[in-house]
Amino acid sequence: MSYDVAIVGMGAAGLQAAISSSRKKARTVVLGRPEDSALYGAEVENYFGVPRTSGKELLRTGMEQAESFGAELRQEDVIEMSKSEGGFKLLSDMGTEIEAKALIVASGIMRKKLNIPGEKELFGKGVSYCASCDCNFYKGKPVAVIGAGSEAAVSAELMTHYASKVYWVAAELDASEGLREKALKAGAELVSSPPKEIGGDDKVSRLTLEDGSELEVNGVFIELGARSTTDMAMDLGVMPTPEGEIKVDKDFSAGVEGVYACGDITGKPWQVAKAAGEGGVAGERAAKYARGL
Ligand SMILES: Cc1cc2nc3c(=O)[nH]c(=O)nc-3n(C[C@H](O)[C@H](O)[C@H](O)COP(=O)(O)OP(=O)(O)OC[C@H]3O[C@@H](n4cnc5c(N)ncnc54)[C@H](O)[C@@H]3O)c2cc1C
Repeated sequence: MSYDVAIVGMGAAGLQAAISSSRKKARTVVLGRPEDSALYGAEVENYFGVPRTSGKELLRTGMEQAESFGAELRQEDVIEMSKSEGGFKLLSDMGTEIEAKALIVASGIMRKKLNIPGEKELFGKGVSYCASCDCNFYKGKPVAVIGAGSEAAVSAELMTHYASKVYWVAAELDASEGLREKALKAGAELVSSPPKEIGGDDKVSRLTLEDGSELEVNGVFIELGARSTTDMAMDLGVMPTPEGEIKVDKDFSAGVEGVYACGDITGKPWQVAKAAGEGGVAGERAAKYARGL
């Protein structure tokens, strides 16, 4: 199957890129899964013009919009990317082969998981991977921030401005001294026993630790740092940063002709507004490139 623009990622950035690209009359295909988008379990209240909505609803509407302008959506994962004579070749986990003149990488970031009982079941019901996104929902409530690194230190400090109590659960601290001191000075209480289980019926109500003690909390923020899904882009000659981000120029070109990147994968802030804004520009630029305009 042959297209002008292929987009890897069916989240905020990829769908906005698809809307912009197909409105520029480029034959556009989007690959990815909405349920794998960071937005899927999110409640969003900081996006322009939308006072409060679920991430699922934003994704559903975005998918409808993209299709209404002619983009083709395929809920498949890309497992191989390569250069071809006319541009790029993609292979999906369903065996679909896609050729496109331009490629947009909008595959977001992978948030590291703890893999303890309750984490998956209570995701979006008190379990979060993004303190800066969800802080406002925990005003006056006790929370735990899990993680030993600087990411966790920043989140623990941030949460002291919202939560009634912040437990910072870290077996061996790895955060920079400055950030660590800032979090502790702000009132975060350090707990050194590793987490064992997140509990609660419908919503998080407790965090059990390896030493058998229980923390009564309504929120558990898992802040173990993040790893970008950039390995496949490297096969195209795109060089990610040591942090796993893809650096782009003002046209969202990833430094290889015909390859663009947008959204969380280009770096922080990991926010819908940034992802959609970047997707809009990347989609338009990729469409123009592919159509030779
Ligand atoms: C719990 C939570 C709450 C949040 N709350 C807010 C909020 O309130 N406000 C806010 O602005 N932001 C919030 N965010 C951040 C926001 O969700 C992200 O910034 C945004 O979704 C990034 O968009 P993206 O398109 O770059 O990535 P994503 O939306 O994560 O989409 C990535 C897409 O790439 C696809 N993909 C990955 N690998 C492949 C592959 N190999 N092949 C094909 N497809 C692939 C996935 O299937 C997915 O569709 C929150 C995030 C989380 C986790």
